[in-house]
Amino acid sequence: MPELRHDPIQRRWVIIATERARRPSDFSIERELPGNGKQCPFCYGNEARTPPEIRAFRDIPSSDGPGWKVRVVSNKFPALRIEGEQERAAVGHYDRMNGIGAHEVIIETPQHDKDLPDLPIEDIAALMKMYRERIVDLQRDPRFRYIIIFRNHGAAAGASLAHPHSQVIATPVTPRTVAIELQSAREHFQVKERCIFCDIIVQEMQTHSRVVTADADYVTWCPYASRFPFEMAIAPRRHQHDFAAQDDAQLMKLARHLREVILRMRHALSDPPYNYLIHTAPAFHHHAKRPGYWQTIELDWHWHIEILPRLTKTAGFEWGTGFYINPTPPEDAARFLRDVQV
Ligand SMILES: [Zn+2]
Ligand SMILES: [Zn+2]
Repeated sequence: MPELRHDPIQRRWVIIATERARRPSDFSIERELPGNGKQCPFCYGNEARTPPEIRAFRDIPSSDGPGWKVRVVSNKFPALRIEGEQERAAVGHYDRMNGIGAHEVIIETPQHDKDLPDLPIEDIAALMKMYRERIVDLQRDPRFRYIIIFRNHGAAAGASLAHPHSQVIATPVTPRTVAIELQSAREHFQVKERCIFCDIIVQEMQTHSRVVTADADYVTWCPYASRFPFEMAIAPRRHQHDFAAQDDAQLMKLARHLREVILRMRHALSDPPYNYLIHTAPAFHHHAKRPGYWQTIELDWHWHIEILPRLTKTAGFEWGTGFYINPTPPEDAARFLRDVQV
């Protein structure tokens, strides 16, 4: 069973994932990703080589064989385990709890060599629908506080298999990075009675120097204080707190927008390794337990996607201080990305 241990000085939880690599020789650095065909457990026809299917969108009804378009399975080496209770306890000065949660893999397509922006728009929309479905499903579990969906592209971004896939992790505590964003949003709302993200989006649309692309529904911009070169954020232009509140028509538009943004990044930076992650609203059942705790969440929070190209390495100064040094001003990054022909 993985374990969550609390660092009382940094005030964060760390997952000690015992099922993963543990011996020094188990850590290989930026190895090549395995090839396709027979080796790849995510390829069509190799369904038996993954843990059992949790959910799939299928053309051919079948239980856990071929015929799928998007397929969700448990991670074979989960960071957190679905069984058990939190059992939060003190260990001397320290705090710990069982590493319960969910860790799922969303296999985006049966085709090994088709990356997300190469898929037909309907298939990207189907992936967005699966994101929505996994968020809704996992939020029902009262043990989980936060559901994060992310995508690692390229070995340098942490992908261990080349076959296009996303991951979902449900955590039993609100992650610190998310908690800071939630708190800033709530405090802004308390003072101004406006959503901080809506305010930012309006200003970015007005100044336009950091906007990469915008349509009637979504905007992508390079954040004012970007940590990384070519960092981007995507958000709906109309206020919406929960990613899962999007209807099918919206998800189709999001698929189109996301494809364009990834293509711009691919062309401008020669298909860089990147991570993207979705910051949606936290699970809501906890608010019932703490009445009045977060009544304004639907007004103060605004879901968004962060896209982080991995062009620079995080080194001693960043680890030691939490400062980032970004060599590309976001205004320049946005101009490069805007000028790309897609
Ligand atoms: Zn494959
Ligand atoms: Zn908003």
